[in-house]
Amino acid sequence: MDHLPIFLQLRDVPAVVVGGGRIAQRKIELLLRVGARITVVAPELSEALARRAAAGEIAHRNAHFGPSHLEGAQLVIAATNLKALNAAVSAAARLRAVPVNVVDDPELSTFYFPAIVDRSPLTVAIGSHAQAPVLTRWVREQIEALLPGTLGTLARFIGERRKAVQQALAPRARRAFWERIVRGPAGSCTLSGDTPGAERAYERELCTARLTASPATGSGSLGEVYLIGAGPGDADLLTLRALQLLQQADVVLHDRLVPAAVLERARRDAERVFVGKGAAHGVRGAHTQQEQIHELMVRYARAGLRVARLKGGDPFVFGRGGEEVEYLARHGIPYLVIPGITAALGAAAATGIPLTHRQLAQSVTLVTGHPLEDEALDWSALARRRQTVVFYMGVAHLDRICARLRAAGADPDLPAALIERATLPGQRLVRGTLASIAALAHQAAIAPPALLVVGEVAALAHCCAECDTAGTLAPPMRRAMRAREARYEHD
Ligand code: SAH
Repeated sequence: MDHLPIFLQLRDVPAVVVGGGRIAQRKIELLLRVGARITVVAPELSEALARRAAAGEIAHRNAHFGPSHLEGAQLVIAATNLKALNAAVSAAARLRAVPVNVVDDPELSTFYFPAIVDRSPLTVAIGSHAQAPVLTRWVREQIEALLPGTLGTLARFIGERRKAVQQALAPRARRAFWERIVRGPAGSCTLSGDTPGAERAYERELCTARLTASPATGSGSLGEVYLIGAGPGDADLLTLRALQLLQQADVVLHDRLVPAAVLERARRDAERVFVGKGAAHGVRGAHTQQEQIHELMVRYARAGLRVARLKGGDPFVFGRGGEEVEYLARHGIPYLVIPGITAALGAAAATGIPLTHRQLAQSVTLVTGHPLEDEALDWSALARRRQTVVFYMGVAHLDRICARLRAAGADPDLPAALIERATLPGQRLVRGTLASIAALAHQAAIAPPALLVVGEVAALAHCCAECDTAGTLAPPMRRAMRAREARYEHD
């Protein structure tokens, strides 16, 4: 390391910026954010800077630079596009032993600006000593994605309570206490904007810490459960919050629909537990699989662990998320629900099916294709025109679904599309009509997970050549599609 990253307190500190163009403007905006007292030396100012000068936010010396302009300056920035002038500013600043940055010229600078991830009061600064700016930017993007936008709120939450905790707890107990706040329910509630929940969790932790002579991390404290939607499969479709909580979780309970690429985004040392069909969890008794999952979540959380319950798509769309949160609430386990991109949305985007469309579909219905629910469905409503119906869990029952829709009055020529493994490698698309789709799916040996989309919009489905199963589009259908697409273009 040959540069020391430090954080400077610049409130009301006099700083001189030489140059009045766009580059100077960017630096000035940064300095204004930290409250520096700025004088700009330039014969001309950009419009935005002129406005700031007129508003009294910065002082303007309408002049060509001379060393005397640095009188009293504690920080200097040269931001002109004249190399000789920048060199003169740098020399004058060095002579006065004032730190100087020449924009984009490390040779002439005694300090440089890092890339910043701002979660004030928490700030991350990244630099590569001008060796690899692209890499620096990439690292910044990674950290941006990883750190919750509300991290600053958590930093303030802690800052506001530091004194109280200092008084309440012995020094050796404080660190473990704050770790539980940051990593536990108080932290996650603060990050998700649940201030009363954060306050309650904080009070509970403080109470426990007071009662426990030497609290060790985890002992006696309650963990929590994150019910996370893992999206349709492509790991890049995870939400930022899902990623952040996956990085925190000690245990990950996942089912069949969660692919390895998503699990890889969890913390390296997190325990991964498969709870999908066929998994045995070592819980004795005649439990259903769902009950076993409930008990596992509670057991881990009571052991003080942070549990990620990772579910395909969205937890509240055919994910039994409702039952899980009910159970957790009943057992007093704190939980958070993190939405995921449900399969219908992933499949629609991956195959170009607009689920609603001004001319073709004014509503969209997500419906289970599982036969157990058959009688609960209003088939005549599902058979109506000008809507899109997406069937989940319907692959094995395509014949029945199509027959029921037709019996309820749906047009046999109504377009239908099947999307297998949407957003995943090996995604496949089969297009047809209510009359043909079941046979076409059978021919192509379509297997779960797959979705059936019924409605005019299904005809707009398209895919790359590899995933489009050959011969699924009959010629009249193709003509109809072209006509629809033409209309769509003129929309
Ligand atoms: N909670 C999930 C749905 C679980 S039900 C969600 O919101 O997406 C399981 C059904 O979802 C599967 O039978 C299938 O119909 C659908 N599904 C899930 N992932 C899919 C994918 N990648 N491609 C196509 N269908 C998918």
